[in-house]
Amino acid sequence: MGRTTRAIVQTGPRRLELRELPVPEIDDDSALLRVEACGICGSDAEQYTGVLPTTWPSIPGHEPLGIIDRIGDKAARRWGVDVGERVAVEVLIPCGHCAACVGGRYQVCRGRGGMFGYSYVPLATPPGLWGAYADYMYLDPCTLVHKMRKDLPASTAALFNPLGAGFRWAVELPNTGPGDTVLILGPGQRGLASVIAARAAGADTIIVTGLTRDAAKLALARELGADHVLDVEQEDVKRRVKEITGGRGADVVVEVSANSPLPVAQALHYAAFGGRIVLAGVKGFKAVPDFISDLIVVKELHLIGAFGVTSPSYRAAIRTIEAGRIPVEKMHTHDFALADAEHAIQLLNGEIPGEQSIHSCLVPELGRAS
Ligand SMILES: [Zn+2]
Ligand SMILES: [Zn+2]
Repeated sequence: MGRTTRAIVQTGPRRLELRELPVPEIDDDSALLRVEACGICGSDAEQYTGVLPTTWPSIPGHEPLGIIDRIGDKAARRWGVDVGERVAVEVLIPCGHCAACVGGRYQVCRGRGGMFGYSYVPLATPPGLWGAYADYMYLDPCTLVHKMRKDLPASTAALFNPLGAGFRWAVELPNTGPGDTVLILGPGQRGLASVIAARAAGADTIIVTGLTRDAAKLALARELGADHVLDVEQEDVKRRVKEITGGRGADVVVEVSANSPLPVAQALHYAAFGGRIVLAGVKGFKAVPDFISDLIVVKELHLIGAFGVTSPSYRAAIRTIEAGRIPVEKMHTHDFALADAEHAIQLLNGEIPGEQSIHSCLVPELGRAS
């Protein structure tokens, strides 16, 4: 009998079950990761509810941090890591050869048939362990890994994922630099990460919006470097942004709010002439009411869609975490055992009355029987 691993398997919308699955053999090109922590992403909630279509059954979890448990010689040489080392694992598993990959845009690689990345590959595709809601996860030969220091708490190191998104969405894509006013719509983990990244890029003024119930997140946004925080239920955001920017509007608007498409239409009003708007919050494929496209024309706005993170932005995030100058760990609020995966997702999705999470992790070691 070979080894087995516990894994959360999703079999349909809102249906998760804890299963015991065989641990696969590793060849020369691949590896096996012992998951220390898996960050819980906003898109995990969309997978869970079925808004984001996935082929079931599959193992969720695409923000893995872990220890190399076994690795083939070729993989060890290619990735520059060995057994016992800690790695941050990128979500997407690019083919490395298609036009998108060769052109440096592996986020839109379709070379392996559809979107190919951890938590999106079904259990039926060998060797099955394609998600990090598990004790062990398979590492495909085309995986992108980043070595990380082992002396940081796993839940802090696991922040490489939201923080990587902050660097890509708030800095890399809109080319944010000194002097820019950055307006961040939504104070969740990606919004807060955007504050850290924009501050690191030298942004002049950072404004964050949220709801009245987001008061604690908005307070944290200030602590992490926001100059102004606005409660959209109490304040006229358009007027306040005009006041703060001397009538110009924001050079960069980062839309990372969840569910409601309204902020997408509003972003066009908040942006300065020639401004850049990054859309990264998904809205369950709903249409945007009151979207006035003429504003894009007359203001020469740049609308940028953001999907995923690039290696340079992951590296910027890892450097920021390892440098320890910014209290990134304040974003981390919860660690959960595998058995509590459903509660963890519902909490992030705002489905648990009276409780909120910002960054949370599944930590397989918690609640392990032996
Ligand atoms: Zn994610
Ligand atoms: Zn490709």
